[in-house]
Amino acid sequence: MEIAFRKADSLKNHPDQSSLGFGTIFTDYMFNMDYNPDQGWHNPRIEPYGPMEMDPSTIVLHYGQTIFEGLKAYRTESGAVQLFRPMDNIKRFNQSGDKLCIPPVDEEFVLHALVELLKVEKDWIPSAPGTSLYIRPTIVATDPYVGLRVSQTYRFFIILSPVGAYYPEGFNPVKIWVTSKYVRAVRGGLGEAKTAANYAASLYATEMAHKEGYTQVMWLDGVELKYVEEVGSMNIFFIIGDELITPMLNGSILAGVTRNSVMTLARSWGMKVTERKISIDEVYAANEKGELKEIFGSGTAAVISPVGHMKFDGTEITIGDGGVGPVSARLFKELMDIQYGKAGDPFGWTVPV
Ligand code: PMP
Repeated sequence: MEIAFRKADSLKNHPDQSSLGFGTIFTDYMFNMDYNPDQGWHNPRIEPYGPMEMDPSTIVLHYGQTIFEGLKAYRTESGAVQLFRPMDNIKRFNQSGDKLCIPPVDEEFVLHALVELLKVEKDWIPSAPGTSLYIRPTIVATDPYVGLRVSQTYRFFIILSPVGAYYPEGFNPVKIWVTSKYVRAVRGGLGEAKTAANYAASLYATEMAHKEGYTQVMWLDGVELKYVEEVGSMNIFFIIGDELITPMLNGSILAGVTRNSVMTLARSWGMKVTERKISIDEVYAANEKGELKEIFGSGTAAVISPVGHMKFDGTEITIGDGGVGPVSARLFKELMDIQYGKAGDPFGWTVPV
């Protein structure tokens, strides 16, 4: 499919790279493509970024039939631009789509469309240390219909946002609130899909955590409220003794690209890495015995997010000395070095733009 291009009348001023936040600034252009049952995905185009007109009855606005992804383009020291494991995100996009009854996209074509959009927007990819261009592919159901059924029509779009370093003053361990009252996902639900409903389900408990003085929620499983699943919108890892443990994928956990990269990297160092069920009681018991060394979250936005403190059932514990553990620090550095092209690409993870 040929990608059409419509030029913008005027271009935006670029922001100051030293004060980039997250997700508030968008570039000049976006990619759009439409779906209907007769034509399938059609009319791919790069056009000026701007509002989308929607009938107030549009299905996505009422029933949340939508999926999205999140990945980044990085500028290397030589000025080149690269993506980190983009095909993993695009495959996960289709897996999410399957759960939301959204027709699949052609994965190779979407990568091609993304690269074409990035070529147009190359000057928007920041170069200051730790900055990057966040990429948000999304599909929304567009039938105008107030009644619950699968939409017949869809819009696919990709928008781009230059983002700042997640830790401008260095690594910051976070405080975690563990709740056995609220859950983000249940067995047989949508937890493993990247879809709006899971994030809507997380808002209330996250507000409660903030009120209590904690940054993020640690989510327990939605069946027994016993096993750890994720932290905030990140996957979670524990170091107990000399073993790196992460909850096994069970249908209610998102299969993070960073999660997979952490496991691959740690295994390459010779570390014992285990995917299994891990209960909150086991975490507290390991802490009692002095065996709980580190806890950290993993995700595209922050890469690695160390946990300094956590509170469950009235008891707050400090993880290690409350600072950044050696494994978290090494993972953070080595993953960033690959993403920013400083350390070669030993696992074939980067794709040049
Ligand atoms: N879990 C959830 C719920 C998320 O939203 C994310 C962010 N995409 C992750 C985990 C981490 O996934 P990734 O490493 O692919 O960014």
